[in-house]
Amino acid sequence: MTHDILILGGGPSGLSTALHLAKLYPHLTDRILILEKEHYPRPKLCAGGLVADAEIILQRLGLDTSEVPHVDAVSAHFDFAGKGLEIRIPHTHTIRVVRRDEFDNWLAKKAESRGIEIREGIAVKNVQPRDGSVIVETDEETFTAQVVVGADGSNGIVRRCILPNAPVHTARVLEVLTPSQPDPHRPAGTSRKSFGFGGGRVGVAFFDFFPVPAGIAGYVWDFPTQVKGQPMRCWGIYDTNILADQPRPALKDPLAEEMARHGFDLNDVELKGHPIRWFSPMNRMSVPRVLLVGDAVGADPIFGEGISIALGYGAVAAREIGESLRRNDFSFTGYRWRVVRSALGQTLMARWLIAEILYRLKWHWFQIFFWRVLNPIIALVAKIFILNWSRRIK
Ligand SMILES: Cc1cc2nc3c(=O)[nH]c(=O)nc-3n(C[C@H](O)[C@H](O)[C@H](O)COP(=O)(O)OP(=O)(O)OC[C@H]3O[C@@H](n4cnc5c(N)ncnc54)[C@H](O)[C@@H]3O)c2cc1C
Repeated sequence: MTHDILILGGGPSGLSTALHLAKLYPHLTDRILILEKEHYPRPKLCAGGLVADAEIILQRLGLDTSEVPHVDAVSAHFDFAGKGLEIRIPHTHTIRVVRRDEFDNWLAKKAESRGIEIREGIAVKNVQPRDGSVIVETDEETFTAQVVVGADGSNGIVRRCILPNAPVHTARVLEVLTPSQPDPHRPAGTSRKSFGFGGGRVGVAFFDFFPVPAGIAGYVWDFPTQVKGQPMRCWGIYDTNILADQPRPALKDPLAEEMARHGFDLNDVELKGHPIRWFSPMNRMSVPRVLLVGDAVGADPIFGEGISIALGYGAVAAREIGESLRRNDFSFTGYRWRVVRSALGQTLMARWLIAEILYRLKWHWFQIFFWRVLNPIIALVAKIFILNWSRRIK
């Protein structure tokens, strides 16, 4: 079967590419097909923290995330040894926490309601660009396309087919869900002093960088969330792997330590892990007729924040595809440059630089200095380089 635009993967990046194409070039809507290997609502390991930029991109598509079950965190706290930074957006939530099965299902239904065709339960097995088309083999049938978008995530088959030897930077990530409160019959944990909160963190998205001096180039998180309407907490640990050449504790140890401080036992819950491929300006992003979006290119290296980023890739890729069809030129030679030049690329470049520098400065004394003395500078850098990029994306 021949299609003009085949999007492989129906997560935020693939759906955003389709939604932006339909918005910018309505005549292309019925020329798009998304292939998704699972059936919605499908599980996706993710803490589901939506930052304001994700909501802004969706609002610009006419979509309102309040329709999705969620818990709003009033503020985000970034902590080291009881000192740190609080980010709060006046008069609204700072992070909206969704469950990805519900969020992606909602987004897919929105895409379908706008005339975009999604075929679920079809797994892509091979992608072969040829001179005048791309051959996509799946577990059901073989498709031919003018343009293919690889939106199939960190471990995606599309990147592995088109760029088999490209270097891959992946973070390791573990996640668990617990009830919102610890078991009252368990001996109370010794809650470490936390910035402004003592032990309690109700309604706060918490990022604790205490494992950095041990060689974990990342943080432990603790978000409020819900599962089927029940209040829960999502905990996890993120390590960029930037210090992979140095001795480090097993990833689950700092997570278990932090949970124990708050009265939770990691052994009581199911631990799940998934890598996140992160952005580096060296990452290749396309070959003729095939371009990559979302985790297939790379998420934010500092936090592994990838939902807003995936939505942003969709906006940039849609313009790239629209232009390529107009010019009948599918080389995509300028795609990486246009990603890097875009507001999305600028925030990713800044985050990549910050992660590469700061996670290497792991000494305890430096972390204390960083979080206590440089605090106002961090807030300023975050405001200029990390947040609020989505309003500038075309
Ligand atoms: C533990 C964890 C916690 C995270 N927490 C956050 C967070 O709080 N906030 C945040 O912003 N980001 C978070 N992220 C990152 C975020 O989940 C990703 O950046 C985001 O999902 C990327 O979207 P995507 O569309 O590129 O890829 P994905 O969401 O991975 O979607 C890829 C889609 O492609 C489909 N697919 C895969 N292979 C095939 C195939 N062969 N054929 C057809 N379809 C295929 C998959 O089923 C899936 O639907 C977290 C990640 C992890 C691992």
